[in-house]
Amino acid sequence: MEGPDASCIGEYIYYRGDNIMLLKSPKKLSFWERTYIVEILKGLGVTISHLLRSFWNMNGRPTVPYPDVKRKSPERFRGRHRLMRREDGSPRCVACMCCPTACPADCIYIVAGEHPDPKIEKYPVSFEIDILRCVFCGLCVEACPVDAIRMDTGIYEMSDYTRRDLIYDKEYLLKGEGAK
Ligand code: SF4
Ligand code: SF4
Repeated sequence: MEGPDASCIGEYIYYRGDNIMLLKSPKKLSFWERTYIVEILKGLGVTISHLLRSFWNMNGRPTVPYPDVKRKSPERFRGRHRLMRREDGSPRCVACMCCPTACPADCIYIVAGEHPDPKIEKYPVSFEIDILRCVFCGLCVEACPVDAIRMDTGIYEMSDYTRRDLIYDKEYLLKGEGAK
């Protein structure tokens, strides 16, 4: 069979246009193949050989005994967020709402307040990030006009026991622990 639309599906069936043609009958299974016993044993042999090779690391794959040893993250790795401070220790954030607007996961919640310093228009009364919703895209960092939020802590261990503990508040984000 020839032609631009002719193709082979498997060993026995040829397909052309809307027509399917059976050229050869599929091989008949032997008695032992029909019982599946030999095939199951063959499959188990393959599985066990892979298990033993992995157990003694015969493939030479590197293993890291986490959490005793932690792999170094790449330079551009985005870890947990942190909020930056001014020289006087107050948050650099001016509650402009650019980051919650840019956030595709809608996981930044800010309550803005009037700043006592007339040179600074606003400040975040509260600033929360729901880290369970965050997709670590970094758009909040890109959107910030005053470099008040960064994702350079290198922290990737963010598990906890309750959902509430995974909504990071302003004080926690200002700690910036693990910052590079
Ligand atoms: S990293 Fe992305 S998803 Fe996470 S808070 Fe920032 S903008 Fe939202
Ligand atoms: S974009 Fe920056 S300044 Fe604006 S609310 Fe977010 S962190 Fe604060």
